[in-house]
Amino acid sequence: MSAFNQAVVLDLIRRSEAGMSRVELIGATGLSTQTVSNIARRLLDLGLIVESGKVHVPQGKPRTTLTIDPKSRYAVGAHLDPSVLTFVLLDLAGTVVHRKHLPVEAVAGPEETVDKIATAIEELISETDTPRERVLGVGIAAPGPIEFDQGAVVGPPMLIGWKRVELRESLGKATGYPVFLDKDSAAAAHAELWVRDNRSDENFAFVYLGSGVGAAVVMNGEVVRGSSNNVGEIGHFSTGDGGRVCGCGRTGCLGVSVMPVQLVNDSVNRGILQGPLDTADLRQVTDHFHKLASLADAGDEKAGALLHEAAGRLARAVEDIANLLDVDGIVFGGPSWPPIGDRYLEVLHAALANRLAMGMIHEVELLGSALGEDITAVGAACIVLDHALSPRSGGLMLE
Ligand SMILES: [Zn+2]
Repeated sequence: MSAFNQAVVLDLIRRSEAGMSRVELIGATGLSTQTVSNIARRLLDLGLIVESGKVHVPQGKPRTTLTIDPKSRYAVGAHLDPSVLTFVLLDLAGTVVHRKHLPVEAVAGPEETVDKIATAIEELISETDTPRERVLGVGIAAPGPIEFDQGAVVGPPMLIGWKRVELRESLGKATGYPVFLDKDSAAAAHAELWVRDNRSDENFAFVYLGSGVGAAVVMNGEVVRGSSNNVGEIGHFSTGDGGRVCGCGRTGCLGVSVMPVQLVNDSVNRGILQGPLDTADLRQVTDHFHKLASLADAGDEKAGALLHEAAGRLARAVEDIANLLDVDGIVFGGPSWPPIGDRYLEVLHAALANRLAMGMIHEVELLGSALGEDITAVGAACIVLDHALSPRSGGLMLE
């Protein structure tokens, strides 16, 4: 029995809210009665699906409905950001059953951090009484660029002491699970695709705001990979004249225009927030960033102006992204998005209303992701589920 056919059948059952009968599966797949029957038997034996009821039909025997058993398998998602370590446990239906955040102080040198990540993953599993063998694997999202094939992060910015770290291998050893490493922005795009039901007609760009900035591209329902799986390194996109000086020597690069550490630094310099600020203290940076957003929301004009300026610069980069890709929408999200999202969207809508080249042809929707600050960890877990469930990957992880 081909693993591909099995994955196709499981995928159909998973996507149908009410479940499917064997007769419906035969109709939807074109597979023979015998093949569908064998696959259903196998999926029942593996515990992945259950017989959840009977549907009466006008003629013939009542049909047994097959539905997925969400509690039969789980996936762990982890997000490594310089200022936040997030963990989620997803069930087979993609529902978050448990989540965990470690304080920024937990991010230290690579070896120590990997140990802490492995411990947090064990806790995530044990605190929910999840049988260890039901966990398919661990997805981990980290700042790019990454060496995808080697599963390594390469000099992630703001992670002190991290040069080239083979995160996939070390975390695999520490946890005993298969580990998938991907970029934070790509993971976030995976999560967004999952909540949209992985539809094959999705075309959008995802703009990711965390400690830094990145992007991912979804075309025809797939996250575009590029030649080294590093699509979306937009930190040095130009946002127009002037602006802050970037580490690369130019001014007005997107990264330095929207990064929380730069915005709170400017806030202190402009007297909006009280100094002194230790920019290496990422907890302080995060707290200050939230304070800046709250001040703007409360009507502080200087705070509002500073965020307006940042959003305006973001709009310049988004214009280029939209014009290059001809997507239906740009989705914004990531851990730094929720506090300033509504404000940025207002500026983005106004700035881009008549600016996009394809504006006469079709609408380009600008919207904030509904997934909140845990989106990246959720996406990392979705990558594991994709490997397990998608017909493309053959569903071999379920054997
Ligand atoms: Zn730059």
